[in-house]
Amino acid sequence: SDSSSNAIPQYLPLRNDLAGEEPYGAPQLDVPVCLNVNENPYEPAPEVVEAIARRVREIATGLNRYPDREHIELRKAFAAYLEREAGVHFEVEQLWGANGSNEIMLQLFQAFGGPGRSALSCDPSYSMYPEYARDTFTQWHTIPRDDDFTVNVERTAQAIREVKPSMVVLTSPNNPTGTPLPLEDIEALLEVCNEVDVEGALTGVHPVMIVDEAYAEFRDPGTPSALSLIERHPNLAVSRTMSKAFAFAGARVGYLAASKGIIDAVRIVRLPYHLSALTQAAALAAFEHTDEQLSQVDHLRDLREHSARWLAKQTYKGKPLQVAPSQSNFILFGGHFDKRERIFDELLKRGVLIRVVGPQGWLRVCVGTDAEMEQFHKALTEVLRIVE
Ligand code: PMP
Repeated sequence: SDSSSNAIPQYLPLRNDLAGEEPYGAPQLDVPVCLNVNENPYEPAPEVVEAIARRVREIATGLNRYPDREHIELRKAFAAYLEREAGVHFEVEQLWGANGSNEIMLQLFQAFGGPGRSALSCDPSYSMYPEYARDTFTQWHTIPRDDDFTVNVERTAQAIREVKPSMVVLTSPNNPTGTPLPLEDIEALLEVCNEVDVEGALTGVHPVMIVDEAYAEFRDPGTPSALSLIERHPNLAVSRTMSKAFAFAGARVGYLAASKGIIDAVRIVRLPYHLSALTQAAALAAFEHTDEQLSQVDHLRDLREHSARWLAKQTYKGKPLQVAPSQSNFILFGGHFDKRERIFDELLKRGVLIRVVGPQGWLRVCVGTDAEMEQFHKALTEVLRIVE
């Protein structure tokens, strides 16, 4: 588990604005059922493990040399994958990889945020966003989502006009709520961005919109991705990851699709050789086996729907649980858990780790295997009976 005391010694010249800050991250506990960080619960098939080992062995003889800084082969693999997954064609110069979409997002903030700049998003959303802002000295603004967790387009548009941010960060499907963002809403907000001049910048400099599609593969089949808007919108960047549906979280690979201009801006701030030869080799091997890597996504979607229906039939203190409609591989549920920490603890005692996240009264569970979901349902049934 994480170290218990994180207090930074007084004699260290820690940045003033970081005083009292804690490292971000969910508890990493060794428990039977881990449903807390939205991973794909299925391990790679033996032939994928073999392909990774082979690719890594092949490049190992060259590990005295730095890797391909521009990771061209991998960017070609991103292109092939996105063509297949979303039906959108990209050139290599419109794609970019990094160590998880966490690093992609940080690079975007480094390139487009900064002192005197601000970024705007819609809460509740992914808790790392304010940290990217803090770490790049970018002012952070949030607009509350509606009660059903959808983006309030009118209020967000109004805020963009007032704040004149250099970055608008939207998430689809959203974490921790699972809420998708319709393409019409993204387009409406892109129109607003195109009319707004960024605060402190020259006239004609418009906000960059980032759509974080970390969980996009779990959306209903046939639903278009924001990737399809990039051709018409040079200020739009769409972030994706191999960590979730693609079942490759341990390798740390995220990627970005955008206009060449945005990719070139990110290339200015990236560290040289940020993607190791090992990472690139492993990711290429996994993309060779895209079918196997994605083989459980339909099933996970079914399990999500099954669990959502089950949750909606449970009650806490005589009232049915609320369940946020999810297009992702997790479910936000509860709504009126006045003791959500207690429910979390009792589940943990029964070997089931979920996440205390999102607005007060709610908890988030990630979709695991059939057996894991059964254990979760069994444990929650017991817990809801004893927590009063
Ligand atoms: N965006 C969202 C919305 C996420 O939930 C996560 C992971 N929790 C990430 C980005 C980052 O994932 P990774 O760095 O593994 O790609």
